[in-house]
Amino acid sequence: MTATKKMAPPQSYGVAGDKPWILPPHKPIQFINANLIDPVDGKVIEHARVTAVGGRITRLTARTSVEGDKSDEENTAVVDLKGKYMSSRLNNLAHPQFLDEELQAMVRTAASFDTDVTAHAYTVRAMRHIIDNGVLGIEHGNFLDRELAELMVEKGIFLTLTLVTHDAMSIPPYNQFQDEDCAKKNAAILGSGLNALKIAHEAGVTMCFGSDLIAGMHQFQRKEFTIRSQVLPALGVLQSATVNCAKMLRREEEIGQVKEGFLADFIVLEKNPLEDIRVLDDNQNLLAVVKAEHIAFSSLEALPVSIERKPW
Ligand SMILES: [Zn+2]
Repeated sequence: MTATKKMAPPQSYGVAGDKPWILPPHKPIQFINANLIDPVDGKVIEHARVTAVGGRITRLTARTSVEGDKSDEENTAVVDLKGKYMSSRLNNLAHPQFLDEELQAMVRTAASFDTDVTAHAYTVRAMRHIIDNGVLGIEHGNFLDRELAELMVEKGIFLTLTLVTHDAMSIPPYNQFQDEDCAKKNAAILGSGLNALKIAHEAGVTMCFGSDLIAGMHQFQRKEFTIRSQVLPALGVLQSATVNCAKMLRREEEIGQVKEGFLADFIVLEKNPLEDIRVLDDNQNLLAVVKAEHIAFSSLEALPVSIERKPW
């Protein structure tokens, strides 16, 4: 969702480690004249009204105009969005670390809980090994080739590359945590990532957006958008972070889109990411974060932060 910028002093709260969030009673939130991006087909829905109550989007209507809108009911925060717009040191990378029987036991156990297994693998040999044993998701996959990509499409295997992990591990201070062998492995992985991305895209593999960053490297998460923009069209990158992840989690009926009945989790941006997906890698473009209907972050005067959290 994108909006006109009405700057207020930024209010940002760190995520408290052991302190629960203190949530105020739910209040309805309405966004009027919002421009929504549909991640399924990439269309922009203009002049929409979004109402969220009880953590879910309860109403979504397209409007032709908001002139004279009188939505100022008690407990309703009305926001006018008139803008244009949302490592093991001992292992060779190619060596599978689990036996067929072990993988199959994991897959069967997960299935008994109505869920699936994803696995971290880089080489074709490692990926084929886990796919042959029923794993439905591959994390990384940096040495993907065309043949394996086609197999993934055929079997409906999800791919979550997370190239930023290896990018972050190559720069100080994080490169200091690797010995010489690990640094060589990381360089090889990093160098092949964009090629894997291109192959996966051309073959039509369903790609997701992961958070496989360790230690203090989570701060670089957004850079994945910029990295993927070198190869993928903006819509493809957006889908990988929204509807595709929802599908993988088997939650496509409640997350991944701003849609009636869906969870009221979304972000408000100043610039349209379909024009340049790299705006998602620039915190100056982030106007607000709505999480379960509560405002977790905001620089919009009309939309004050509604979650009280302990500072860092
Ligand atoms: Zn990993």
